[in-house]
Amino acid sequence: MVSSEYERRIAARFATFDQDGNGWIDREDFSGAAKALLAEFGAAARSDKGQALYAGAEAFWQGMAGMADRDGDQRITRTEFVTGAVKRLRDNPDRFAEIARPFLHAALQLVADPDGTAAVDDTVRVLRALGVGEDLARTVAAGLDADGDGRVTEQEIVPAFARYFTVPE
Ligand code: CA
Ligand code: CA
Repeated sequence: MVSSEYERRIAARFATFDQDGNGWIDREDFSGAAKALLAEFGAAARSDKGQALYAGAEAFWQGMAGMADRDGDQRITRTEFVTGAVKRLRDNPDRFAEIARPFLHAALQLVADPDGTAAVDDTVRVLRALGVGEDLARTVAAGLDADGDGRVTEQEIVPAFARYFTVPE
């Protein structure tokens, strides 16, 4: 039995990955996310941080395609997302954290201080650049800062991200 709440959550997760909104997830969605982040924070694609972000985006795409692109056409359709990605992410959240980590690490480096932590407000900017609405971005960023000190760390972001995408049925 599939609930409408479950369907709604799946649709929201799919839309997050389908950055350009063309109805499927592919490499362009991941490189587009990297490009949007670099534009938001004024970093050059050829800079070290830019290269790390694009490399992380490519690794993230390869990992997602490995889990979900059943027919190998380099596109993850909504059906492939539901039948492949969602189930496998739920069964193995650690694997998801692993494929997402290089991208999340590189995104955090765009806004982090030398100690590797980022301000909650900058985390909101990251989420906004990825197309998350203002209110949700604020809620998510505040939730990431579990101890309420106004700083967000990689140790907080990666598991939270995995939790968000491992949708309970
Ligand atoms: Ca797309
Ligand atoms: Ca496919």
